Amino acid sequence: MMEEMIWRGLGVSGGRSAGKTWYLEEYEAEVQEENPKNSSVDEEIERLQQAIILTEQNLTQLEAKVKAERGEALAQIFGAHKLLLSDPAFIGEALLRLQKGHLSAEQALQEVAGEAIRMLRSLDDPYFQERAVDVQDVLVQLLQNLRGSQGNSSDLFPETGNYVILADELTPAQTIALPKERVLGFVVRKGGKTSHAAILARTYGIPALVGVAEGWEELKNQSWVEIDGEAGWVRQTPEGHTLSANMEGMEEETSLASGLLGELILAANVGSPDDLAFVKKFKAQGVGLYRTEFLFMGDTLPTEEEQVQAYQQVISSCAPDLTVIRTLDIGGDKRAPALQLPQEKNPFLGVRALRLTLRRPELFRQQLRAIWRAAAAGPTAIMFPMIATLEELFQAKEILNLSREEVVQAGYPVGELEVGMMIEIPSAAWMANKFASEVDFFSIGTNDLTQYMLAVDRENNELAELYQPYHPAVLGMIARVSQAGLQAGVWTGVCGEAGGDALLAPFFAAVGIKELSMAPGSLPKVRHALASLDLKLDEKISLVDSVLACATASEVKEVLGKVTPIA
Ligand code: PEP
Ligand code: MG
Repeated sequence: MMEEMIWRGLGVSGGRSAGKTWYLEEYEAEVQEENPKNSSVDEEIERLQQAIILTEQNLTQLEAKVKAERGEALAQIFGAHKLLLSDPAFIGEALLRLQKGHLSAEQALQEVAGEAIRMLRSLDDPYFQERAVDVQDVLVQLLQNLRGSQGNSSDLFPETGNYVILADELTPAQTIALPKERVLGFVVRKGGKTSHAAILARTYGIPALVGVAEGWEELKNQSWVEIDGEAGWVRQTPEGHTLSANMEGMEEETSLASGLLGELILAANVGSPDDLAFVKKFKAQGVGLYRTEFLFMGDTLPTEEEQVQAYQQVISSCAPDLTVIRTLDIGGDKRAPALQLPQEKNPFLGVRALRLTLRRPELFRQQLRAIWRAAAAGPTAIMFPMIATLEELFQAKEILNLSREEVVQAGYPVGELEVGMMIEIPSAAWMANKFASEVDFFSIGTNDLTQYMLAVDRENNELAELYQPYHPAVLGMIARVSQAGLQAGVWTGVCGEAGGDALLAPFFAAVGIKELSMAPGSLPKVRHALASLDLKLDEKISLVDSVLACATASEVKEVLGKVTPIA
């Protein structure tokens, strides 16, 4: 019998699935063909121009589709790609090289784009490194059109059928453009747990694993695979074996009052009103984290009116459940080109989130006014990200009050706001008791709390092993925060990725966390785990004691594994 082939990676979006694979081809930097047809210069220029027209049409279609499905900000990615088609340094230069003769259109494009990609990738700034992917995206479409493949977005994915996607790298733009209902799973060679592609996969409830570098060449030639996005493996499977991640099936067994479930609110994390369909689909009890920065990541900044509209849409759709809006968290890995921020040596430790908005009071006040106005549409809370000191909280609250007055003076209706803060910097977590008298709630951002407590870049795949949300120090800190909140009558939620981890859910319930907010696709599993477990007070105390007595993350996992019923 043939030995089973299995490859391992980092599971970033839970669930099992199986099916036929589709490899999303990577651009090859090497120039491969001399002008094989020996066609004339004019013929090659004509071919290139036709390909440009087709590519522009494809991009316009894609832009419209993304705009309808995901909103303006993300659609701008494709608008920017269209601009590349008239960029003198790219297409202009390729035409110049063609005029010199000897080259095919493919060759000229590959030469010019290859140089641009290598140059961008060599820069230190991750923002420019990512722009290489944009050049690559456009190049791939141009080459497809030159080679006479159908020349529309379906070239990236077949028109019919369901597939497990294999890709060397998956950009947010690619992920968004795919027909999610036909994607059985993602297996990606590069990328980390908090990469945007991983977050999107969780939003859609599609199993995914990343960082599958070892044995990649062999894996990418497999035509049928099964994947487990929880355990982080992918293996060969017999032809014809299909399995769809059937997370929704678990709902049937679950009554809202059963087990620990009644003790917690299970809410969703969203990045735009376009995610609301998933909030409904996975039956979230409100939104526990609305990442507003996605509105600001396009080429232009949103107006106050545009912000009011976006926030209102989420708030009214969630009402009577609560929507927790987080103020801008730009910086670190989240870039907003329109803000033209200076480059920093250590962006994750730099002018990020509240540090930025406190330095840009106009920008901040505009967002706060929009939130006050939108809050009239239903129950709303606001929270400030990246607070390290009490002074920052005081300043933020002062500006919040000022902006309320501005809204009143302008004659708009003003809503009520619960005011909270994110706990994601160790200093704030440690002093939660001091912060508790100043806020209505805490929301623990475990992605950053883990990053800052363990000094591990959350994006660095090389250090994925050291990025440990199960680390006893991280969990001890969470228990401490929740305890401080309980003593002051302030509720605590968890909204980082750990909030959607079914293994951790009983621990969070036991330490008194009141809300878990997660990527919508994680809700069924967490709901299932909580509903199947009931703990009396002494059992909760003993669970917390056993977890906090552990010396390593793997010991913690073992303890939790004995308690938590994972389907
Ligand atoms: C976090 O840090 O855990 C969090 C929820 O915020 P973000 O992932 O957007 O930084
Ligand atoms: Mg954060």
